[in-house]
Amino acid sequence: ATPTAVMVGTGVGATQGVLIKGGKALESANKVNCIVFDKTGTLTVGKPVVVTTKLFKNMSIENFYEFTAAAEVNSEHPIAKAIVEHAKKTTEEQHHSWPEAHNFVSVSGHGVKATVLNQEILVGNKKMMLDHNITISADAEEILAEAESLARTGILVSLDGEVAGVLAVSDPLKPGANEVISILNSMKIKSIMVTGDNWGTANSIARQAGIETAIAEAQPETKATKIKELQASGYTVAMVGDGINDSPALVAADVGMAIGAGTDIAIEAADIVLMKSNLEDIIIAIDLSNKTFSRIR
Ligand code: ADP
Ligand code: MG
Repeated sequence: ATPTAVMVGTGVGATQGVLIKGGKALESANKVNCIVFDKTGTLTVGKPVVVTTKLFKNMSIENFYEFTAAAEVNSEHPIAKAIVEHAKKTTEEQHHSWPEAHNFVSVSGHGVKATVLNQEILVGNKKMMLDHNITISADAEEILAEAESLARTGILVSLDGEVAGVLAVSDPLKPGANEVISILNSMKIKSIMVTGDNWGTANSIARQAGIETAIAEAQPETKATKIKELQASGYTVAMVGDGINDSPALVAADVGMAIGAGTDIAIEAADIVLMKSNLEDIIIAIDLSNKTFSRIR
């Protein structure tokens, strides 16, 4: 393509909210034959809400949420925000000042730990509990499995070493996600999902989206490693993500695409920014690349 064609291509992209950072990014897009999607905030809306709570300890739901919010108010994770929002509604206080949390620790990809009112509280996934030698009862397991089958994320809360409650958090698929995957399929582009979330929830969301291959419980390095593996087996790979934890993978990919509503770090790491946060715009970017690099030579 001539430099003028590239300029026109990126210009057309810009008018449609597809920010293409240079000619190389535009050129690589039409060679992509595999796209790796992050789950939370990329395929899903990214604003989780607490939908169910099951208590396992003889305490009031208000009291349970006071403890849980006191720990989670210190975390930036979308799940933490969902829990604090729900706690505000549940406790119906005018001014939400939670008990103070001491010794707060955030364990990336697992959950949080703190001391609240002299009790040790853990909020997180199964791994978080098992790493702290907390027994998960068959009843709790059942609730987790049910949540996962409904594409929800189950979160455990323990107080002084015992599971006090399990809550389910829902973060639905973006409308149209399914259609985008099926269009990509028809373009012979393979779609894969990678997430830090558990296998059950990951498989449910992937199924809803029409994605055959899902990889769960992935650390940020795992996401980048997966991309390099795909490249080594001959794929030209695009990564679509929104989080800080997606940035190594966005850099590793042949084309990194960031969701516009995502974190600054992801936007900086990407070659293409989908300003409207619509998954449809992935197809617009590929089409533009096709038009620019096949029509004019
Ligand atoms: P992702 O953003 O892809 O879902 P993360 O690596 O951020 O992945 O988190 C993986 C899992 O760890 C979450 O699904 C959740 O179960 C657990 N987790 C992480 N942070 C928290 C938190 N602040 N509170 C509760 N659970 C958490
Ligand atoms: Mg995400």
